[in-house]
Amino acid sequence: MIPAKGYAAQEVKAPLAPFDFERREVGPHDVAIDIQYCGVCHSDVHQVRDEWGGSIFPMVPGHEIVGRITRVGEQVNKFKEGELAGVGCLVDSCRTCASCTQGFEQYCEVHWVGTYNSVEMDGKTPTYGGYSDRIVVNEDFVLRISEKLAPERVAPLLCAGITTYSPLRQWKVGPGHRVGVLGLGGLGHMAVKLAASMGAEVTVLSTSPKKEADAKALGAQKFVVTNEEEAMKGVQNYFDFIINTVSAPLDLNAYLAMLRLDGTMILLGVPPEAPEIQTFNLILKRRRIAGSLIGGIQETQEMLDYCAEHNLMSDVEVISINQINGAYERMIKGDVHYRFVIDMATL
Ligand code: NAP
Ligand code: ZN
Ligand code: ZN
Repeated sequence: MIPAKGYAAQEVKAPLAPFDFERREVGPHDVAIDIQYCGVCHSDVHQVRDEWGGSIFPMVPGHEIVGRITRVGEQVNKFKEGELAGVGCLVDSCRTCASCTQGFEQYCEVHWVGTYNSVEMDGKTPTYGGYSDRIVVNEDFVLRISEKLAPERVAPLLCAGITTYSPLRQWKVGPGHRVGVLGLGGLGHMAVKLAASMGAEVTVLSTSPKKEADAKALGAQKFVVTNEEEAMKGVQNYFDFIINTVSAPLDLNAYLAMLRLDGTMILLGVPPEAPEIQTFNLILKRRRIAGSLIGGIQETQEMLDYCAEHNLMSDVEVISINQINGAYERMIKGDVHYRFVIDMATL
């Protein structure tokens, strides 16, 4: 085994603190990566607080990983020592079910192995994430990272980037579409950048009036403060799509009324409690509610290549690992601009 160190929560809601553990030896198909940067996703907060149930402790969170390859297994031919590489939310899946064979490993019908708070395909070995110095991952779940972009600004693409890119592609968002982005945090700011880059008209729907200038700089044409009644009225029956990235419980009905005929609300945020939907809100305009989970490996590579080509990166606040607990508190208050990224050299 390879000794590793990281930051872990030892039990539900415990503050993250230094933790020593082990990574597996580099197998014939494995890649070993020295982690340089790891983004901080609100899913990390939900899981450390066990807001979705079933959390596994001790937990080393982190699924927005960028680093340098230090070793490759003898049968690895996709990667070489010294290259920059990324790891997102997935590190394995069954590889044979209908979803996996179509490249939708995130929808594996058997078991997909999360980068942390999960177990390997053996059903018992726990996985530990990217708030750590190194990781060993099967080459099929490792992503290529362009040397052109700043690695700390690329790390959030591995979750926030792909989670917003995938539905935008699935629903073929482009010129002529009006897209509302609900919640301007990690996912939200990438949704704005990506949807704008694809030619859509973007409106940010936010509880934070202070984020208006940033929203426009990110590519939004409009900004609506969601507790201002008049502004909310101005976007009734307006959007083709609303990308909902809110992490906290929210009354969806007010937002469903903003969808025009055949409009779709895409749920990305996963608040701990289920929403209540007024059926008429859907029926009266043939509106739809859909969900989307991260993206498959091939699509994640496509998104990374797209971002490199269009010079698209996350707007980040780099922190040292000992600031992580404070960063969680700030995210819960919506005080994120727009992704915290941990500089792993501070470990
Ligand atoms: P984040 O950076 O913390 O941003 C969430 C944003 O939601 C906040 O910045 C805030 O934006 C808004 N918000 C927060 N509390 C609110 C409240 N009480 N009422 C209204 N708006 C509120 O979070 P994130 O990392 O982007 O993640 C967002 C959600 O997506 C989380 O639930 C996460 O677990 C989930 N997620 C899902 C997937 C997937 O595959 N579907 C992948 C990753 C993450 P404003 O200040 O603009 O209001
Ligand atoms: Zn995430
Ligand atoms: Zn599968």
